[in-house]
Amino acid sequence: MKQLIIIILLFNISVLSAQDEKENYKKAVLKLKSFYNAKSYDSIFTMFNVDMKKALPLDKTEAFFESIETSIGAIKTHEFLKTKNLSHIYKITFDSGIRDVSMYLNQNNEIGGMYVSVHRPTDLPKLARNTTKMIWPFKEESFVFWGGETVAQNYHMAQEVQQYAYDILMVANGSSHKGDAKKNESYFVFGKDVMAPCDAKVVKVTKGVIDNIPGELNPKQLTGNTIVLETSQQEYILFAHLKQNSILVKVGDEVKQGQVMAQCGNSGNSTEAHLHLQLQNVADFFQATGAKLYFDKIMVNGKLKEDYIPVKEDFVKNIDKN
Ligand SMILES: [Zn+2]
Repeated sequence: MKQLIIIILLFNISVLSAQDEKENYKKAVLKLKSFYNAKSYDSIFTMFNVDMKKALPLDKTEAFFESIETSIGAIKTHEFLKTKNLSHIYKITFDSGIRDVSMYLNQNNEIGGMYVSVHRPTDLPKLARNTTKMIWPFKEESFVFWGGETVAQNYHMAQEVQQYAYDILMVANGSSHKGDAKKNESYFVFGKDVMAPCDAKVVKVTKGVIDNIPGELNPKQLTGNTIVLETSQQEYILFAHLKQNSILVKVGDEVKQGQVMAQCGNSGNSTEAHLHLQLQNVADFFQATGAKLYFDKIMVNGKLKEDYIPVKEDFVKNIDKN
């Protein structure tokens, strides 16, 4: 859990056709490896570009690499796997673990994005989209901050593990909050009920993560308080950043569509209250590949949409049932 961090990639991502490792990457990864094995984490920090330095200040960079070193030791070998969008992906073998590391270099050969995740076996089940019919997980009309199938509409698209995910909040008069921006209670979506979108079984629950002060992040507990549901079709739905002490379900529970499971919060790697919602092929977020989550019948900007993927800036609510 604590070895995964997402540095948001905010670039125009275009697909590289070449599957070859580029020279500049070869050099950078060797440099990274020798700095890491020498525990010279401040030297790794000097390889970052301005945005990375901002996202992961020196103390956090050191803490991040120290936590990896403490749990899985030194780097033994590295192997180039493939290019994905603008990044190179490596399989890195440590003393006691294997990780996939995705790295992006800018034109000055500075590290502009890096993502470390548990190495994923290639034989996991494939899931493109849901066939189970889903309702929207909020009772109130809510706002899609990130959603859709392009990086411009949905920054989650930059990473397979969370591709097609939604970040959902609530907006009034163009703002997600009213009053003190440093208080979670000021955010319209904070504390709102989160419902099961379909009948399903609860397969994972993470509890006890505190809600962040808005603006602060908790990259060590990425998804914060979390619920994962399994449908009868082996589709897995993950609800992240839930409010501390709000989870009403436990592993093994069978939930019904529309059943309240928890409240929206601001726990984990979240800067303000929102629901991160995603469909995935396996229960474990760190092994998962994101899939397209369609909603059966929902009101989108006042119009009925069927079998629809809400996109950035859509206002969404369930249809009224009479
Ligand atoms: Zn998200």
